[in-house]
Amino acid sequence: MSRSRVVIVGAGFAGYRTARTLSRLTRGTTDITLLNPTDYFLYLPLLPQVAAGVLEPRRATVSLSGTLPHVRLVLGVADGIDLDRRTVRYEGPEGERGELAYDRLVLAVGSVNKLLPVPGVAEHAHGFRGLPEALYLRDHITRQMELAAIAQDPATCRARTTFVVVGAGYTGTEVAAQGQLFTDALVRRHPLRKGIQPRWMLLDLAPRVLPELDRRLSDTADRVLRTRGVDVRTRTSVKEATRDGVLLDDGDFVDTRTLIWCVGVRPDPLVGDIGRPLERGRLLVDPFLNVPGHLDVFACGDAAAVPDLYNPGQYTTMTAQHAWRQGKVAGRNVAASLGMGERRPYRHRPVGFTVDLGGVKAAANPFGIPLSGPLAGAVTRGYHLAAMPGNRVRVAADWLLDAVLPRQAVQLGLVRSWSVPLDTASPELARLPGPPREESHDHHEDT
Ligand SMILES: Cc1cc2nc3c(=O)[nH]c(=O)nc-3n(C[C@H](O)[C@H](O)[C@H](O)COP(=O)(O)OP(=O)(O)OC[C@H]3O[C@@H](n4cnc5c(N)ncnc54)[C@H](O)[C@@H]3O)c2cc1C
Repeated sequence: MSRSRVVIVGAGFAGYRTARTLSRLTRGTTDITLLNPTDYFLYLPLLPQVAAGVLEPRRATVSLSGTLPHVRLVLGVADGIDLDRRTVRYEGPEGERGELAYDRLVLAVGSVNKLLPVPGVAEHAHGFRGLPEALYLRDHITRQMELAAIAQDPATCRARTTFVVVGAGYTGTEVAAQGQLFTDALVRRHPLRKGIQPRWMLLDLAPRVLPELDRRLSDTADRVLRTRGVDVRTRTSVKEATRDGVLLDDGDFVDTRTLIWCVGVRPDPLVGDIGRPLERGRLLVDPFLNVPGHLDVFACGDAAAVPDLYNPGQYTTMTAQHAWRQGKVAGRNVAASLGMGERRPYRHRPVGFTVDLGGVKAAANPFGIPLSGPLAGAVTRGYHLAAMPGNRVRVAADWLLDAVLPRQAVQLGLVRSWSVPLDTASPELARLPGPPREESHDHHEDT
């Protein structure tokens, strides 16, 4: 009898955990293939620390082949799924076309930056969803500070040291909090011309920061940010973005060279193309994470609309907490569909949230207990170390170094503005220069 073939598309929180669980349960009896554009799992919650120079970029990654020894990694971006022929088409890193045949398919492609129809934003803003964007932002901030230091006129200096973050969810809040500490650290060593201090603005249409989280987390974050001098503006958004600044909907024009777009995410467009029912762009699945009518297809994480059994009629939110746990259930249910064990529904009640505000500060509510200050900071960092599937020692070492050494104000300039456009279906890959790829050849597997 031939071995069953399982293809998992996407190696983020959901896909990585599916692969790991399945590999443990099937013990080498099944061919497990993981299709992902990068050879690493990205621990997204640490990305703001990469942008702020606390962590070196590789710290937030975990090698797929190094930690999933019995899973075959195929590098590529899936761009076509044929549910009848049971195949996944993809493009590899050098432009080669490939096709994978499956007996079971798990779609775990996550989400991409959400766009809003605001003039100029697609051209002048950058998102915050992948490592290239975090690297770009670290360099960009450093460069703006360096250029501000030599700017002749105060207006240019002010514009270069004004950083606007739109969206006060956990991503935007953490980026602004970490960013302010980063630029403060840079000016401490190289003060700017008289009286000018870096200024971070955090905007949201909602009436409070962290609008989707517990009120007490929101109050803590708001207090910490304002104390540090972040200009928090709720019920405010951007009306237009230009090369020289942003026009706010309250009529203010802010001179800036930096617009960071953290208004949220939308499911990866791949799931919209397969012709199955969607819920706000997410692929609808049943509580067993099966796509209805296709017992061989599963979906989980941000890309899937998974019924929230604790809140009937609703779907689980797009968080790493859910994606990670759904990955485990997907792994078990795929194994069960191959005759190994029993399938079970996905059911999880979130046990709290942590928001790292940089330095020793954080806002957290583990098991509903609201924490702030250094205790929350310690809980948050401890949580991340425990949650990461690898690379913990290096992360902890970087935190230690950051506590005792000054931040490195060095821009490598490897990721340029045009290589991280806001409107992309692949925020995990930096766009490369040059003509479309030439070395194209097909790679087909037996179907
Ligand atoms: C900056 C930031 C901070 C966050 N902090 C927190 C936090 O503190 N707590 C929390 O709970 N959540 C947090 N989140 C949200 C959390 O990261 C997501 O909900 C989670 O990553 C979703 O997991 P996923 O597996 O669905 O998607 P992802 O983790 O995004 O993984 C998707 C994977 O699919 C791959 N992929 C995409 N398209 C294709 C394709 N066409 N073909 C092949 N592979 C593809 C991607 O490269 C990626 O590896 C944060 C998000 C961001 C951006």
